[in-house]
Amino acid sequence: MMKTSSPSIIAIDGPAASGKSTLGRILADRLGYLFFDTGVMYRAITWLVLDRNIDPLDEAAVTQLAESEHIDIRPPSQKDGRVFDVLIDNRDITWDIRSPEVEAYVSVISAYAGVRRALSAQQRRIGLRGNIVMAGRDIGTVVLPEADLKVYLDASAEERAKRRYHEIIQRGEKADYEEILQKVLERDRIDSTRAVAPLRPAEDAIIVDSDRMDVEEVLAQVLELCR
Ligand code: C5P
Repeated sequence: MMKTSSPSIIAIDGPAASGKSTLGRILADRLGYLFFDTGVMYRAITWLVLDRNIDPLDEAAVTQLAESEHIDIRPPSQKDGRVFDVLIDNRDITWDIRSPEVEAYVSVISAYAGVRRALSAQQRRIGLRGNIVMAGRDIGTVVLPEADLKVYLDASAEERAKRRYHEIIQRGEKADYEEILQKVLERDRIDSTRAVAPLRPAEDAIIVDSDRMDVEEVLAQVLELCR
């Protein structure tokens, strides 16, 4: 394959709250690429399962929903801090998918093989168009193993929980650090021990540890890798 000056498909994987979407958004902006946060799709299906009162443990029913529903991700229609709109059933669920209820079940639902098959096929189709930064858990390993650059963004659970805690406090909401830490650890556990597409760095991924680096430093390191 002929190499262009910048890698056309960039995969950013890593655990919950490691800063993938912040990095991905800025990186895509710098390169003039599209940013696609694949976690949004798993969150949207989880939201719909809860909204329709489907039992999240009913794998067959959840899978059927993931196979039949269309998730739409569009440019932002409102200036309320959103980076894109997330629509399902013609309903704007951009903020609903960030709720604690969705976070409590998203890892359970995203472990279902049929759900992953349905969503990763769509992700792959979008990714193959190129000029894209894609964030997730399995982009470099399963969705787009041919990605030109694979970054695995890591950070300790304590650091990630601390960042999440400050995000919530900044929004003027209440937060409990210990509770957030437990939830982050639980999502990590489920995401990395599932049978299908578990969270792990691809063999050719470059591991970036953001524990002692801020976003600008991580960005500088990844832009260097793009050259
Ligand atoms: O990245 P985010 O925290 O929004 O992802 C929500 C959840 O979706 C993750 O905890 C994981 O269970 C699932 N996910 C996944 N594969 C991806 C992206 C997200 O399993 N590519």
